[in-house]
Amino acid sequence: MVIGVFKQSVMEAIRLEKVRKRYGKGVLALDKVSLTIEEGELFFLLGPSGCGKTTLLRSIAGLERPNTGRIYFGERNITDVPTHKREAAMMFQSYALWPHMTVGENVAFGLEERGIDGDELVDRTLEALAGVQLEGYEDRKIEELSGGQQQRVALARALVVRPKCLLLDEPLSNLDTQLRVEMRGEIRRIVKDYGLTAVYVTHDKEEALSIADKIAVINDGRIEQVGTPDQIYREPETKHVAAFMGEVNFLKGKVDWVVKDTEDEYVVRVLTDAGEILQGKVTEPGWRPQVGETLSAALRPEVLRFDDSGDVINQIQGKVLERVYQGPTIQYLIRTEIGVYLQVAVMNPRKLVEPGDMVSITARQQDVVMLRP
Ligand code: ADP
Ligand code: MG
Repeated sequence: MVIGVFKQSVMEAIRLEKVRKRYGKGVLALDKVSLTIEEGELFFLLGPSGCGKTTLLRSIAGLERPNTGRIYFGERNITDVPTHKREAAMMFQSYALWPHMTVGENVAFGLEERGIDGDELVDRTLEALAGVQLEGYEDRKIEELSGGQQQRVALARALVVRPKCLLLDEPLSNLDTQLRVEMRGEIRRIVKDYGLTAVYVTHDKEEALSIADKIAVINDGRIEQVGTPDQIYREPETKHVAAFMGEVNFLKGKVDWVVKDTEDEYVVRVLTDAGEILQGKVTEPGWRPQVGETLSAALRPEVLRFDDSGDVINQIQGKVLERVYQGPTIQYLIRTEIGVYLQVAVMNPRKLVEPGDMVSITARQQDVVMLRP
């Protein structure tokens, strides 16, 4: 591929320090957001609609001015630097291509704006199109392209100006499911090929989990947690993150024994509302719940197993109420003796459990997460 020139140390870290943004006298869209996005990272801002993702991205692009706080690109404080001097390219939800112009003209537009013409304009346009696998498409009309191809043109248009960072706001929301899955892999490839620092906004947890280097989960203008996809999914630090990232059972309970208390691990045993004892780790940094304190044990349906061997710590008794066959997994709804409901997802079961059966459910200690109630 002909994108070698892009690869030379164009990446830059992005750092936000206590960025706060209020619209008029009303909504507090960002509440003291601090964040470091490392060089060359594909970083996701993930959260429900209205939580402040677009505001955060537009602040990085220079399209919104924070009320307080600072933004750095590398060592440079760019809080007051105008958009066009930030060397960031943004790609929006509606990618706004000019339908009557050709693919080449659409991509070249950003270069013309910067006073680039002649051979350089042509070379860089063709190079950007090659980078998104649209070689030979330069003379096509936009309206002759599929949704996925238009998406690639929009990406090429962002990349042609050789930005140091690429900002993507729900870039795939106009595509159908299959194309979305295809294009997200493609976006990751392009970001890595070009060695860009990229910030990607979405409300789609699967999109984030599948291609992110890191994810910041945002809730109501605040960052709830930053981590790798695996950390965010398996070691959520709040109930909101646990629930937002996928199905989860919460069991309320009281600490009855601190099992392990070291610098990097805090494990507690909890007597739950289900009348059973569970053991698991506390994930919230610095939180050390004491004996008698109330908390919520979080258990994802797929970490639960049917097991009646009797020699495991985390064991809950219940009755099967429902069974839903879903192909790769079978989902069960279980009711414990005192009326707590649990979702269990079993992959490839050896023996089918039927509604009405009494079952014993177990979970490994490392799969049980203890959260603030
Ligand atoms: P998201 O992208 O996560 O959906 P936004 O950043 O667009 O969230 O919006 C965050 C909050 O700020 C929402 O409550 C939204 O209604 C509000 N908001 C966004 N843009 C404006 C604006 N230009 N004027 C006033 N309120 C706004
Ligand atoms: Mg938005």
